[in-house]
Amino acid sequence: MATLEIRDLHVSVEADNATKPILKGVDLTVKQGETHAIMGPNGSGKSTLAYSLAGHPKYTITGGTVTLDGEDVLEMSVDERARAGLFLAMQYPVEIPGVSVSNFLRTSATAVRGEAPKLRTWVKEVKETMAGLQMDPAFAERNVNEGFSGGEKKRHEILQLELLKPKVAILDETDSGLDVDALRIVSEGVNRVRSTGEVGTLLITHYTRILRYIKPDFVHVFADGRIAESGGAELADKLENEGYEAYVKGGASA
Ligand code: ADP
Ligand code: MG
Ligand code: MG
Repeated sequence: MATLEIRDLHVSVEADNATKPILKGVDLTVKQGETHAIMGPNGSGKSTLAYSLAGHPKYTITGGTVTLDGEDVLEMSVDERARAGLFLAMQYPVEIPGVSVSNFLRTSATAVRGEAPKLRTWVKEVKETMAGLQMDPAFAERNVNEGFSGGEKKRHEILQLELLKPKVAILDETDSGLDVDALRIVSEGVNRVRSTGEVGTLLITHYTRILRYIKPDFVHVFADGRIAESGGAELADKLENEGYEAYVKGGASA
């Protein structure tokens, strides 16, 4: 069973010629088959955690470790992370002009698997997965993220997730900007992946509504760059009712 271990992670971001510490000692273990939700107020550092795990150059690791099955993730290039089985869906996915969804998916699958998927089974797999996400087959010929609506971006992310079959998936605000129907379709995709029992999922979100569709095994409250509290699914209900006030500096019980 693959395990992602984050230990005492400290991360700073370079902004306006100054170094600003954002993550201040994150500890988290995600095992294959488990679903963890990270919830927290805006600006608490949730996306910074996702970008740091992705190896985004803007984020400087100033302390701590991240390992996947004991291998040092922080030493890996972005490609090596993907090959090792990490999948990262970003809150703001980038456009790749001139590269179709279809080519992008096949290139990604080739990179992750170490060999090109057999064309005939691959085409069928892509078609079926797209159908499951209620995506028009014509979508495969569009350029990656070019003019995609919010919902199309999220479906495209989950399409990648289902096809690439990572060991650990980090989904940053997969629920943002989705209407109820799209949220359900996207959640069903995540649940299909979960049901294999072979993926550890880290679901980063500000709102509890996606957790009505995707039941987490663990919920972590993120505040001021670290995990302030951890619990089971019931913690999400508490947050739904009480909000984050108690966890924010100067808040009721902080
Ligand atoms: P969240 O995802 O929880 O809303 P973020 O990780 O996006 O929080 O942001 C945490 C803090 O780090 C914020 O104060 C934000 O302004 C700052 N920050 C994050 N990324 C950058 C960046 N690339 N440049 C400047 N500041 C950043
Ligand atoms: Mg934010
Ligand atoms: Mg964010």
